[in-house]
Amino acid sequence: MTESDWTKLIRSTTKIDPLSGAINTPIQFSSTFDQQDFDHFGEFDYARSGNPTRQVGEDAIASLEHGQHGFLFSTGMAAISSVLLTFSQGDHLLVSKEVYGGTYRLLNEILPRYGINHSYVDFANLSAIETAMQQTTKAVYIETPSNPTLAISDIAAISRLAHKHNLIVIADNTFMSPFLQNPLDLGADIVVHSATKFLAGHSDLTAGAVVTKDEKLADKIYFIQNAMGATLGITDTWLLLRSIKTLGVRVQREAASAQKIAEWFEHEGWRVCYPGLKSHLGYEIHRSQAKSGGAVLSVDLGSEQTARQFVEKMTIPVFSVSLGGVETIVSYPPKMSHAELSAEDLAADGITPGLLRISVGLEDADDLIADFSQALED
Ligand SMILES: *Cc1c(COP(=O)(O)O)cnc(C)c1O
Repeated sequence: MTESDWTKLIRSTTKIDPLSGAINTPIQFSSTFDQQDFDHFGEFDYARSGNPTRQVGEDAIASLEHGQHGFLFSTGMAAISSVLLTFSQGDHLLVSKEVYGGTYRLLNEILPRYGINHSYVDFANLSAIETAMQQTTKAVYIETPSNPTLAISDIAAISRLAHKHNLIVIADNTFMSPFLQNPLDLGADIVVHSATKFLAGHSDLTAGAVVTKDEKLADKIYFIQNAMGATLGITDTWLLLRSIKTLGVRVQREAASAQKIAEWFEHEGWRVCYPGLKSHLGYEIHRSQAKSGGAVLSVDLGSEQTARQFVEKMTIPVFSVSLGGVETIVSYPPKMSHAELSAEDLAADGITPGLLRISVGLEDADDLIADFSQALED
């Protein structure tokens, strides 16, 4: 029987404890595990290598992403850097030109020191991807929708092209969450998440996740996870499991509100980046690979001055980095998530001085629109 994602959210996170019947996963505060047999050791020996609570979380994320092997890390960047550390000196990666600021920093400042190099490519252009391939290229790294302009990459088409050249396809699925998009079903080999965002959903912890169906890739990722040690702690795993139960209801409502808000901004005459709008480049591709436009949109208010006024006058959202929380979060990418980028790179990526990113929370959409409307009045 194939289970609906709604059922999976609950079943994968509600593992009944055989000892007590407790319906919530026990928090196993144990860094080491007694071995019953001198010669044959049990499934768990040391918590960096594995802990029963984390195991439930890792199995849950694997199930939600329609994969077989899940891994939880202390942050999204720990997850991403662990995946990228499976590559070796001399390897080359093709990376979506609009990539999360932390990933950009890792690719630019850290991996080249170990001989792992990359080229940024406009993933909307398939022939550009093929042209950028080198003899040493080993993987393509997709982020769709991208941050903060919500640019769309065609996961299935890029995966087909990459596989023709024996490349591994990695997809950062943070913006959609596993509830709205499943890159492994579209051909990706590895999915990464900042679980800090929608999966945790309450702006109260940091976490990262990796999922794959491929056993060989899973072995490589596990080796790095255990060797580098950036694993997710037990309490945070438990909080994450609790949050995942409501992922569907949160994301569905937040996305419906984001659609309404995006339409309102567009109707008011502003340039809006939101993959649920017909005017958005890649709208059709996005519609074919995701259930909705998601909960994040960006709006260009024309100038830094108008963006500043908007932030100073709005009353409901918090002004902050991050996204995917129950509260609406407005951020200013040029000075926050993308502060690492040069002025030239900002302009090339469409991150204009008036661009605000809005992660829509669970407040009433009409209240938010009323607040945004007054924040824009002179
Ligand atoms: C936040 C984010 C990350 C990094 O995750 P952390 O949990 O902050 O380390 C990676 N990718 C995307 C798309 C993100 O939004």
